[in-house]
Amino acid sequence: MEYPTILAERFGPRFRTQEPMHVHTNFRIGGPAQYYVEARSVDEVRATIAFATQQRIPWVVFGGGSNTLVADAGFPGIVIQLANREVTISGTQVTAGAGAITAAVARQAGEAGLTGYEWAVSLPGTIGGAVRGNAGCFGGETKDVVREVQVLRCSRAGEWQIDVLPAADCGFRYRHSIFKEQSEWVIVAAVLALAPGDAAQSRQRMADYLARRKAKQPLERPSAGCLFTNVELHRLTEAQCAQLDAATGGTWRAVAHDGQLPTGWIVEQSGCKGLRVGDAMISEKHGNFVVNLGHATAADVMTLSDLVRERVRAAWGIDLHEEVQRLGDGASAH
Ligand SMILES: Cc1cc2nc3c(=O)[nH]c(=O)nc-3n(C[C@H](O)[C@H](O)[C@H](O)COP(=O)(O)OP(=O)(O)OC[C@H]3O[C@@H](n4cnc5c(N)ncnc54)[C@H](O)[C@@H]3O)c2cc1C
Repeated sequence: MEYPTILAERFGPRFRTQEPMHVHTNFRIGGPAQYYVEARSVDEVRATIAFATQQRIPWVVFGGGSNTLVADAGFPGIVIQLANREVTISGTQVTAGAGAITAAVARQAGEAGLTGYEWAVSLPGTIGGAVRGNAGCFGGETKDVVREVQVLRCSRAGEWQIDVLPAADCGFRYRHSIFKEQSEWVIVAAVLALAPGDAAQSRQRMADYLARRKAKQPLERPSAGCLFTNVELHRLTEAQCAQLDAATGGTWRAVAHDGQLPTGWIVEQSGCKGLRVGDAMISEKHGNFVVNLGHATAADVMTLSDLVRERVRAAWGIDLHEEVQRLGDGASAH
């Protein structure tokens, strides 16, 4: 039997061929996945990966598509969208499937009288994506609440098994985790440790975070959030600090906070706001957002990203690093 038939029999309409990926990404950009599967349980994820590996079909996993730029040529293999969304709460502990929507988990935890995760109500995407990128905002980071992560990985014997990694073994740092280094590991669930709180206060805090985000970010247009990571001050050399002093008359020191220099400010100061390639544009509202004005392509975004990087490097001597993850066109797959 042909493998599309096998997958179609198992997944029904949740298996599709030539699936346009722009409908699954926040950017509204991306060519077709040769095969696409929506996996609603860990067993479905495991079976699809085992099958793809056996058939030597390239595969990648995908969450909410809020941090991903899919190539215009799409992906020549199986895109497995994690949709295991179950959430259970026991005491102050929240266990969420990797496909659970982060904002929904934050709301559920708040309503259950738990505090510490309210900031995540404003974070697009899934728990799996948030753990992998150690996503954070408003002073909170995923690593602050994760107790352990359940990960699907291949044993030496070739079996796909689930291991539990305590947070200390997850290599969390700013927008990074061990899962970015071990790209064939699939996060299937995370256990979050929160604190007893008050549901009404959590609701209020969430409304405040949502309002602050709406005021500062171009949420009315498709984007993938911040294009680049912020600049970590401890990584700046003396020469770079001197170049920054010369370029800004020292004002950058007042703008930096929490050990970082916001890249949105750097991009703005480099005169890149409103810079446009095709339908991809650096937002006028937030310098670190590329917005899709309607028909932007991945190539437009990549050209724009290179332009900004070149300008910033020339003016400030700083290399910006992309936060947005690429899928297809040679980006890592298995
Ligand atoms: C408007 C907007 C605002 C944003 N603001 C913020 C912010 O304030 N802070 C912040 O940190 N981010 C922000 N982001 C980025 C994004 O929301 C986060 O990075 C989010 O956690 C990504 O989750 P996702 O499920 O959408 O990931 P996806 O885009 O689906 O995937 C991202 C990467 O993770 C991998 N991946 C996904 N799921 C798994 C899994 N289960 N196991 C292993 N790998 C996996 C994918 O292969 C891909 O490489 C913003 C995005 C948007 C659109």
